[in-house]
Amino acid sequence: MATTDTSHLRIAIIGGGLAGATLANALIQIPRLEIQVYEAAPTFSERGAAVALGPNALQALHEILGSGKDDLMKRAGAVPLNSVRSVIGSGPNAGKIVFESSDPEPGIVVHRASLLSELVGQLPKTVLHANKKLAAINLKSDTAAMEVVFEDGTIADFDAVIGADGIFGRVRSFVLGDDADRYDASPAGFWDCRTLVPFEKAKTVLGSELFEIDRQYGWAGDGGYILHDVLANRTTVHCVISAVEPSPTRDRKRPLNREILTQTLNKWLDGPIAKGIIELFLEQDDLDGYSQWEHKETPTYVNGTICVIGDAAHATTPWQGAGAAMAFEDAMILQALLSHATSSKDIKLAFSAFDALRRPRCQRIIDSSRGTGVILCGRDANAGLDPEKLLEALAPRWDFIEGLDMVAHKEEALRIFAEAKMG
Ligand SMILES: Cc1cc2nc3c(=O)[nH]c(=O)nc-3n(C[C@H](O)[C@H](O)[C@H](O)COP(=O)(O)OP(=O)(O)OC[C@H]3O[C@@H](n4cnc5c(N)ncnc54)[C@H](O)[C@@H]3O)c2cc1C
Repeated sequence: MATTDTSHLRIAIIGGGLAGATLANALIQIPRLEIQVYEAAPTFSERGAAVALGPNALQALHEILGSGKDDLMKRAGAVPLNSVRSVIGSGPNAGKIVFESSDPEPGIVVHRASLLSELVGQLPKTVLHANKKLAAINLKSDTAAMEVVFEDGTIADFDAVIGADGIFGRVRSFVLGDDADRYDASPAGFWDCRTLVPFEKAKTVLGSELFEIDRQYGWAGDGGYILHDVLANRTTVHCVISAVEPSPTRDRKRPLNREILTQTLNKWLDGPIAKGIIELFLEQDDLDGYSQWEHKETPTYVNGTICVIGDAAHATTPWQGAGAAMAFEDAMILQALLSHATSSKDIKLAFSAFDALRRPRCQRIIDSSRGTGVILCGRDANAGLDPEKLLEALAPRWDFIEGLDMVAHKEEALRIFAEAKMG
């Protein structure tokens, strides 16, 4: 039976990535909610390298987990992003510094798999269901409940479904209905590849002067961008090569080799970084590049008591390091709203308030992130690879992302919810 009064409400979270696991940590604190998390993969695990989390991501996590956030980050091996240096990587200005920052309120860098494992590890095993791939969501005609159908043929009833099932998730189609294909993710015009390298190896190949302190380096150059970060107590270096995609392709993944990397960075080869980075990448066995895809437009994140969060709602390019941060903000807002929901009707109003508040911000971040990629790859018509002009173009771009006051954001969500309730 769907719930129409103040008894407990059953919520299915589809997807156990960073968005789903964070949301589960948020909602499990609300005694009225019974949550279950369903993950299609055989285990709750993350592939990929590091994730950088700025002040907004950390504040959202703090709002969700309280002081437990710091312990969690410590266990996950997070290191502060104390210092960032942006440098020109190709052309006549190669080696010149664009900006250097040592933030009084630094972000952090953390290994994605470790972060997910810590988030999942503090949830009761009874709410975690691996190997459960969502197939369909059916509305039940006699009640407000929904039937959640999995590919293994099992079915469970819920009062609400939250899709945290990633960029190609299934729940999005139950939110957008017949129009869903129109709003599928599409190529953003860049690709990237990533690798983790032992610290000593990176220091030898790239030069010890780049590793005197734990500093993130970003190299902006002709048609591309190179980044390296020190991780995990100076044992590992995370390296990224990103580049403009000459012709966007529907094929997201492609094998890379020396010829492709050299061709991509051909205007960089006389500069201080490209040759060394290419050597580090070529040590990797299966070297693949991935197209960056994004949601260019999404008319709603919500359909009644179904909603999407994280990459399922607003997948973005990684240029402003904001994808996971948006997922944490989503979880924080849903925690605030759903702690005031006592019926299926309230859940609808809460989801609707979530959509009204979150969609404009997330779409603005998606658009800004793509534009930042253009600038960092030296393709901004005005800035080019001029260090001073680059600084001018880049400096203000993070303010609206990192400067959001999370407490005020929650209050705004609750104001929209209360107004809707008053009707
Ligand atoms: C290369 C790269 C670098 C990035 N760097 C940063 C960064 O520095 N900072 C930052 O903030 N963000 C960054 N991001 C973005 C960030 O990693 C993502 O926004 C975030 O991980 C998304 O998490 P998610 O849980 O929404 O999606 P996912 O991680 O995709 O998780 C979705 C989960 O749902 C499961 N699933 C899918 N379909 C089903 C189904 N039918 N049934 C059940 N389960 C299903 C999947 O198996 C998966 O486990 C980066 C992203 C990329 C690609």
